[in-house]
Amino acid sequence: MDEVQKVLQEGLSKNFASVHVSIVECPDLTSAPFNLSAPGLCGNAKLVDIGGPPFLFPYAQRDKVYSFRHIADMCDSKEPFMLGAGAGPAHVLGVNSEMMNTIKLEPNGKSVNRGYVAKIDKITNACQLQPMPCDEFNLMGNFLVCDGLPGQVFEVKASTRIGEEDFSRCLKNSLKRYYGEKPVALGGVFLIEQGKANIHIMSDFSESPITSEEQVNQWLKFFEMGSTLVCLGELVSHDPGYDLRDEHFHCFNDQGEGGHYHYDTTPQSVQYRGYFVMAHDVYRIDQPAHKLVW
Ligand SMILES: [Zn+2]
Repeated sequence: MDEVQKVLQEGLSKNFASVHVSIVECPDLTSAPFNLSAPGLCGNAKLVDIGGPPFLFPYAQRDKVYSFRHIADMCDSKEPFMLGAGAGPAHVLGVNSEMMNTIKLEPNGKSVNRGYVAKIDKITNACQLQPMPCDEFNLMGNFLVCDGLPGQVFEVKASTRIGEEDFSRCLKNSLKRYYGEKPVALGGVFLIEQGKANIHIMSDFSESPITSEEQVNQWLKFFEMGSTLVCLGELVSHDPGYDLRDEHFHCFNDQGEGGHYHYDTTPQSVQYRGYFVMAHDVYRIDQPAHKLVW
């Protein structure tokens, strides 16, 4: 952790005017503004990368339905805390959506699910944020899985962006530049405490095939959303050949907004604060047979 702390401090300093990376006791993540399903990020930390964007194109594979309990079983976690980014349960909601996942599974079959989905209102084209309606999701998921315990975590504070890289990409690239082909994986939560960010929400599944990046960018709806944004997800510095998502964060705020984080739109005033742990393993589940190549 000491080494990674220094690597992140040095890497982020190339992209942000003010950076402070330290190792701290995890704050209580069940409290505001996080409001997550467990207090900490520690204990048997691992990443799961489930499905992926190839299941969306050219047509969405609506049969790709996953349950958190099943995923937990597959990675040998009995009472896990799972948090991160994925596609919402269209088979329950009746429409495609972005999922901000925070769920703690309990041994009695119950769960503490404080996640959200963000979808496009079909009449107004506005963002609609609502609580997760069930313990299942569709198509893809990129989660940190851990015991949800207190313990030591990285605290990453960065403000005033002076480079081109967004926060999560800069974290990933900082690790990539130092560790090369040795994969280092982080999962956790970060806040955008000041400033705004560019966020997308997927439209409902397309009736016509989507076959180019240009069509994808027309199908996605982009918004500028304000702080405080709570962003959940994971990153891995190097893909050893499993078609891993290199970084994926979804976010929500208390103004009824949420979706997929791209970058902040207010580099001068932006202020990030994040908490992360290193994962010991990455589980690749239901890897699509083909990569997405446009
Ligand atoms: Zn996403």
